[in-house]
This record gives sequence, structure tokens and C-alpha cells, in this order.
Amino acid sequence: MKQQTCVYLYSEPTAATLDFSSLSDYVKRILPPLKVVVRASFIRFHLSPLTEEALSTLAQDFARAKVRNPLSQARDFPPLPGEVEYERKRLTDPNSKAWGILYDGYKLTGILHRLIPRAERNLSHVHVVFTNQLFGTWDEHDQRYHARVSVYGFPSLLSSTGIVEAPAKPREYYFLKQQYSALGMPDATATQLNTQFQGQFIDHGDERLTEVMKGYVMQAILYRFWGDPFCQDKGCRLHNAHWQQEVISAQLEGPYEFCPLHQERLQQLLGDMMK
Ligand SMILES: [Zn+2]
Repeated sequence: MKQQTCVYLYSEPTAATLDFSSLSDYVKRILPPLKVVVRASFIRFHLSPLTEEALSTLAQDFARAKVRNPLSQARDFPPLPGEVEYERKRLTDPNSKAWGILYDGYKLTGILHRLIPRAERNLSHVHVVFTNQLFGTWDEHDQRYHARVSVYGFPSLLSSTGIVEAPAKPREYYFLKQQYSALGMPDATATQLNTQFQGQFIDHGDERLTEVMKGYVMQAILYRFWGDPFCQDKGCRLHNAHWQQEVISAQLEGPYEFCPLHQERLQQLLGDMMK
């Protein structure tokens, strides 16, 4: 048997409805030869205690990873003192949330990559990091950043904020939101719209979050084995959803967990792991 591949799931303490033991059990059910370990949040696990030096460096790095303008792929610029201070506060409080900031997903991956110990920086280790930071990637095609649920790399990042904010809600939602705002009823907006569209998108603190994230964890793991984990089939958990309705179809209401093609590929992968 080959060296056992180990998957690390780094928890996200602010996502109350995310059940990590259930995610871990799911991975072990789909690919039993994998070892799956649930760890504390990434920074807490790899940098505890957080020294003053590490904190300063990280705060600078995260402030630099911030997207200031989603319409411009700005190169390196010195972060403002307030931005660095914000990151320091966020890093020292494990329950803090990075509200309203968009980060560059690949820069975040780069920052975290450097914190992985050398012994775990090889293909026998798959690091899957949950974060509440919202990140995006630059789209060359339409020349702007798009918020994402996930960025696959080393490590892979999954965002509990991204699953709410990145896939688009129904078009009527945005239309009505604009109407209510125009009428000067911003408070009515949130309540009214959330009732009207209940269940049609993944919301903050959504009870369905664990079930939805099972598919994204599998995408992160299969990225390691296949390079391209995505599927065109809208009923497959590997579908790269751009709309909330697609997330719900693929992760909660699909006719199967994986389409016939990916079921077959998973069987092949299992066979390879057992050799
Ligand atoms: Zn598929």
C-alpha cells in the first residue's frame, strides 16, 4: 500500500452550523483509505502562541492581500496603518469576522502556504482551510474580481462567507432589493426579502451549511488527485456553481451525489489508493 494521504480540515469557529466531525465522516465514507484529521482554525493551529513578530508579519501580509477595487488588479502597494491594525485585531480574536472586505484568494493561499511545516508540504498532505474571510479571484475575461466560495491550491480555502455572497441570488431578489432601497426602506428590505426568498439561497448561519460544504470539501480533495475537480453536470456535487440555485441543486437536491462519470472515477481512485 502507498503512503496514506492525510486530509486536514481546519475549522472555522464563527460558523456555528458547520459540523466538522460530520464533514470528516463524509470524506471517510467516500474515500475510506484517506486519513482525515479535524484541526483548530489554521492560524491557531500553526501559530500558537502567536508571537509579536509573527503577528506583525501576518497583519501586514493580510492587509496587502486586500482587494481595494474589484475593477482593478492593483499590484503591490503599501497597506495603510489602519488596515494593518484591523488585521492585527482580527488575528488576535478567533471569533472575529472579516466583514465587508474582499481579499485576493491566491494571495491568501500564498500567505497560509508559508505557515505549513515542511514535513506537511507534500502531496501526502491535503490541507483544507475554512475561513470567514471573503475572497475573490481576478477574471481576465471581464477584467474584474469575482467573489468565490473556494480557491483550490496548497492549501485550499473554503469561505463560509463566500457561500452566502459569491453565488448569485435569484434575479428578482436584486430587483426587489433595489426597489425597496429606492423607496427608502432599507430595514424592510432584509426582513421582507429573506422571508420571500426563504430557502432559495444559503444564508449566514444556514442549517444546511454542512451538507453544502461536503461537496466543496470533495472538490478540494479531488483537486489534489485530478487537478481539475469540476463537473458540467448540475446534479453532481463537483459542479462549479455560479448561482445559489445551482449550489442547492448540486449539493442538496441532486439526483445523486456524484454523476455516473465521477462515480466511476472515484471507484478508480479508490482502486489506486488500495494498490
Ligand atoms: Zn460529476
